Amino acid sequence: MLPLPPFAWIAPRTLQAALDALAAAPDETLVLAGGTDVLPNLKRGLHQPRRVLGLGRVAELGHLEPRDGGLWLGAGVTLERLATDPRTAAWFPALAAAAAAAATPQLRRMGTLGGNLCLDTRCAFYDQSAFWRDALHHCLKTTGDTCHVVPGGKRCVAALAADTPAPLIAYQAEIELRSTRGVRRLPLATFYGGDGARNHVRARDELVTGVHVPAPSPELESAYVKLRARQAVDFPLLSVAAAVSASDVRVVVAALGPRPRLVRLSAGAAALAAARPLSPPAIDAIASAAAAQCHPLASLGAEQWRAERVAPTVRRALTTLVLSTTEP
Ligand SMILES: Cc1cc2nc3c(=O)[nH]c(=O)nc-3n(C[C@H](O)[C@H](O)[C@H](O)COP(=O)(O)OP(=O)(O)OC[C@H]3O[C@@H](n4cnc5c(N)ncnc54)[C@H](O)[C@@H]3O)c2cc1C
Repeated sequence: MLPLPPFAWIAPRTLQAALDALAAAPDETLVLAGGTDVLPNLKRGLHQPRRVLGLGRVAELGHLEPRDGGLWLGAGVTLERLATDPRTAAWFPALAAAAAAAATPQLRRMGTLGGNLCLDTRCAFYDQSAFWRDALHHCLKTTGDTCHVVPGGKRCVAALAADTPAPLIAYQAEIELRSTRGVRRLPLATFYGGDGARNHVRARDELVTGVHVPAPSPELESAYVKLRARQAVDFPLLSVAAAVSASDVRVVVAALGPRPRLVRLSAGAAALAAARPLSPPAIDAIASAAAAQCHPLASLGAEQWRAERVAPTVRRALTTLVLSTTEP
């Protein structure tokens, strides 16, 4: 059994108290929401924080409600609630599907949206015990100077293997970050960066308080497809979220590397994709664009197979939409 390391446990009851506690020592504090990722990582020696800030008692983070003409999803909302709430299911079915596909019922009951968005990046080398990593001199994500999955690699390629970011980016969600210095909102698509060692722009004294998802247009159709090694408890090896409105096609491919990728359409593909429902040539053009732009990195393994699955997975997501829009 792997024991937890020692740390000071801080469990405030209000958001302000949580922000104050974080501001007091941001570099020495690890935030814990549901703990479904943090606790195994602490046991593996991936973090050695002096303090752990538990958010479980902060009721203000648990709101799921209509706000500013859209839906507000608090960082403390559980994956189970995202999967089952009638408003997410009706307005944002790809998000509900992504939450339902994550982990297990027990983990979804504990795991939160904030934890999912800030999930530590994963890698075949990094996600091992301290004993195992000690023997191989660590890696770019921790204290080493070598990448063990890309020989000679100078940048960490650990992947964001979380289910909810792709659909939320497809829905054009904004993420809210708060600290004692103030509050800021940014498009979720710009929250992530390309360095797997730290793949998001959250400052160490900031907490994610939630995301705001704009109300969908009445004709918006969306889908989520998750590829994993087995149809059971497993992180995505590749995932695709698609949101198609009358005027826009947004396809996001995730679990490639540190950040999800919004597929850009060439002028030719965009012209094909303007008609509704999407035609088979339009779907092929979008799938080809995705395959050309999305290159799964070595961190999660099987990169050749994952690369080959990009176009079929995008095609599957879009075909699901066409079928649902043309059903009698
Ligand atoms: C067996 C197993 C299978 C899993 N399968 C999946 C899967 O298929 N798909 C998937 O997406 N995930 C999966 N997970 C991971 C995890 O359960 C979920 O991602 C969950 O949503 C994480 O939420 P949490 O609240 O438990 O996060 P925590 O573990 O508490 O935190 C995760 C990260 O987010 C940070 N954090 C949490 N809340 C905030 C906040 N409000 N502000 C700033 N930082 C914050 C923490 O510091 C930490 O870095 C799996 C986990 C296990 C153990």
